[in-house]
This record gives sequence, C-alpha cells and structure tokens, in this order.
Amino acid sequence: MTSSEETALLAAVPDGLFIGGRWRPAEDGRTLAVSDPATGEVIKEIADASVADGTAAMDAACEAFPSWSRTPARERAEILRRAFDLLQQRAEELALLMTLEMGKPLAESRGEVTYGGEFLRWFSEEAVRVHGRYGTNPEGTGRMIVTQHPVGPCFLITPWNFPLAMATRKIAPALAAGCTVVVKPAALTPLTTSFFTQILVDAGLPDGVVNVINTSSSGEVSEPIITDPRLRKLSFTGSTGVGRALLEQAATGVLRTSMELGGNAPFVVFDDADLDKAVDGALLAKFRNIGQACTAANRFIVHRDVAEEFARRVTERVRSFSTGRGTEEGVTIGPLIDDKAVGKADALVSDAVERGATVRTGGSRIEGPGSFYEATVLSDVQAGSAILREEIFGPVLAIVAFDDEDDAVRIANDTEFGLVSYVFTRDLARGQRMIERLETGMMGLNVGVVSNAAAPFGGWKQSGLGREGGFEGIGEYLETKYTLTPDPFG
Ligand code: NAP
Repeated sequence: MTSSEETALLAAVPDGLFIGGRWRPAEDGRTLAVSDPATGEVIKEIADASVADGTAAMDAACEAFPSWSRTPARERAEILRRAFDLLQQRAEELALLMTLEMGKPLAESRGEVTYGGEFLRWFSEEAVRVHGRYGTNPEGTGRMIVTQHPVGPCFLITPWNFPLAMATRKIAPALAAGCTVVVKPAALTPLTTSFFTQILVDAGLPDGVVNVINTSSSGEVSEPIITDPRLRKLSFTGSTGVGRALLEQAATGVLRTSMELGGNAPFVVFDDADLDKAVDGALLAKFRNIGQACTAANRFIVHRDVAEEFARRVTERVRSFSTGRGTEEGVTIGPLIDDKAVGKADALVSDAVERGATVRTGGSRIEGPGSFYEATVLSDVQAGSAILREEIFGPVLAIVAFDDEDDAVRIANDTEFGLVSYVFTRDLARGQRMIERLETGMMGLNVGVVSNAAAPFGGWKQSGLGREGGFEGIGEYLETKYTLTPDPFG
C-alpha cells in the first residue's frame, strides 16, 4: 500500500518516452507495468517502446549531435553543474522513488543520490579539460597536432541495481564530451531515469541531446540501434552474458564499446588484520544494496586462524539486521529485485549446505508478499560450491578458510571475473604484494567500498572493458585525431 506522499511522487514522474525533447507515448500505445519489489504491487504504468520508437530516438540523437558537439564545453559543463544542484534540491524525492521501484532502504537510496550526483559534478569539471597536444616530428619536417573529438551518438544501457548512478556515470561523461545519447534503462526500474531526465531538461538541456526509451523488449528494440550505422558507441552495464551478446552485435559497426559487467569479488582477511575493521568492511562490502552490487564481496577468504572469530562476529552483527520495506524506519535489508533473484540465492545456499557449509544465521526465503531473503552467513564453504563461482546478488555472506598467502591469492584469482577485490591486513608489504597479485581492476585495501566519481571504475578479465569515472571516464566518449602539417619554416 502506498502512502499519499508516495502516490503524489509517483504521479509526478513522467510516464512517456523522452524523444527529441518531448515526453510522448509509445508509437503503438503499449505500456509496461513497474512494481514495488517489497509488495509486488504495480506502482505505475509507463510507455513501452517498440523498434520504431528506438529508431525515432536514434534519429533525434543524430539530429542533435552537430549542434551539441559544437556547443562550447563551458556551456555543456554548466548544464551538468545545474543538474547537480537540482539533484541536491530533489534528493529526497529521488531517494524515495528509487526505494519504491528498486527496494533498497531509504538511507541507501540517499547514498546513491549523493554518489550518482557526483558524476554530474565531476564531469562538469572535466568537460573543460579535454586537451590535445602539438609538437615537432622527430625528423623536424612537420608539426604533429593531436586533437580530441566527441565520438558521436551513443547508446547507453543501464541495469536496475543502481538506477541513478549507473545512468549518471554514463550520461554525464557523454554529455561533457559533446556526445548525444539514447538511454535504455532496465524495465524493472525505469522511473528513476525518467525523473532524472526531467532534471536535465530543467537544467537547460537542448532537445534531442538525451533520449530515453523504456521497453519490455530490450533485445528486440536494442539490436537495430546497435547495428544502426549512425551509432558510434555502445556503453553497457549489466551481466557478462548479455554484455558478450551485445559485443557481437557491436562488431557489425566496429563500435567503440564500454562494458561494465559481472563480478565475483574476493574479500581476503589475513590473520594480522584489524578484525573489527574487517568486520565493518565486510558488512558494507556484502550487504550494501542487499548484496545486489557488481562490487559486492562474493567470497570471504579468511585465514584459518581467525576464520571462526570472524564468522562469530559477522553473525552477531547480521542477526541484528532488520528486514522489511525500504521505506520503513530502521530497515537495513530490503527486498531482492524479484522472485527469480530470491530463487537464485536460495539455490546457491542449498548447494553450499549440501556440500558441507554451515548456516550460522538465515538461510531461507521469507514468504511474500514481496521478494525477501534472510540475511545469511555461511561458514566452512567447500571448494566446488556454486556460490564460490557465481555472483550471489543477494544478502548471503559465504566464508571459506585459507592457510597461507599463496593459497589466498590462488583462491581469490580462481574466477573468470576481475572487477574488485578487498584485502584486510596490517602488514604494508603484504598489502602491496596483494595489489600486484590480485587480478582485479579495483581494490579496497582495508576498506569495504571503493566507488568514487573521481576514480576509474572498471574490471579486468570478463568483468569488462573500459573505465567509468575519473580522468579516464570522459576518454571513453572521445576519439583522437592526429594531423600532420609541413614545417612552417621549411
Ligand atoms: P542484465 O540482465 O544484463 O541487464 C542489464 C541491462 O541490459 C538492462 O537494461 C536490461 O534490460 C538490458 N538487456 C538485457 N538483455 C538485453 C538484450 N538482449 N539486449 C539489450 N539490452 C538487454 O543485468 P541486470 O540483471 O540488470 O544487472 C545485474 C548485472 O549487472 C550483474 O551481473 C552485475 O554485476 C552487473 N553490474 C555491473 C556493474 C559494473 O559496473 N561492472 C554495475 C552494476 C551492475 P531489461 O532488464 O529491461 O531486459
């Protein structure tokens, strides 16, 4: 049951597709339903894009590109900065909306508004720092000029787990670089992007620069866009399986691609670690976003001498968590995104237990309404358990013991993913060795959360291609041109 505040907020969210600067219904009039995962109730019906709507969005992005790419960087920056300011003013509404469609507790939604907003601020600052270079060639016969140019119209596909931040992390650098975009949010959480798009419009964004299509047929609507010869860039955040399929489609036009894909993060605790800090870090790395983060710690690899004490302490803390609808006071664990996610967590726990793991707390699904799973701690997880290979994407903390540093490194790197790792140790040299030995694009050394708009976010191995955020983030939306001119004195 939604409160009157929630009803008013939901009514204010645009329910159309945003194409060429106008909110409008789908061409064929179809709609899709958005539900609250905490209750299973439909909270809003919105336009459901068809292939024709996708093409119209591409047309609008292509039409707007020449003018937007020539708009002075300072003007583009100021629009992003105004959007950052408006986001702060509307933070409470946006946080509530995110909780309603995605489920995370309000405090976490507020955190995502802060984190997601930072990409607007950071890239408003980066927009005016796109540099080239000028130099004499080694032969002395000419001048070499290197310039950077916006890559062109881009297609941005975002997931449901961080509906705001995954959108701003792509839209802000694209706009800063002078690109126009078509955005396709996940059908499970489209409302946050619509609300944010209206903020961009209010900040003065010209028509056609950002176009948003929500659809219940993501594959059918996306493929013609990806294979459209006018598209120059595909940026995708989601699962590795879908990313791999989209890379094949992107090969048609030899597109520039950025891929932020799945993870299977190791969280390594050495016997010399500050255990209090390791436990705090573990709870953040595991239970933030109800475990539904690509950066979520998936395997807790703990030295055998401290494994029992670590398990005891995390279990005590996890037992104090409160599970419920994210809008309720004091709730720390919200629902999972849908029943399929609950089924997956349950199957992984059952498999681990059958292979010898011990359930310290939790371990069961919670009957509906809503898609809830108990906050769970498993110890003595045995090698070969599926939970060590697959992304759990749920509130399940799985502990496996190791004997020495080589053993820890071997277990940690034993995955096709390489997004992030976490290491807790008081030994500086050991920490530095782990930086060099762990095969991940990011690492938290004695911290449980690494994400920051100013840092290059991205993975090694099958966790992805490219980086979002940091100085690197804007480069993903730029092409380099080298020009040679004759020696002006020659
Ligand atoms: P997903 O199923 O791969 O979906 C991601 C996005 O792709 C959604 O917008 C989805 O739309 C769309 N999509 C699905 N199939 C498609 C297709 N055939 N063609 C075009 N678009 C398609 O992933 P998810 O379940 O939403 O998100 C969880 C995954 O994302 C996890 O693996 C997580 O690790 C990863 N993730 C990675 C990062 C990172 O930065 N590395 C960050 C967050 C999440 P519909 O859902 O509407 O079909």
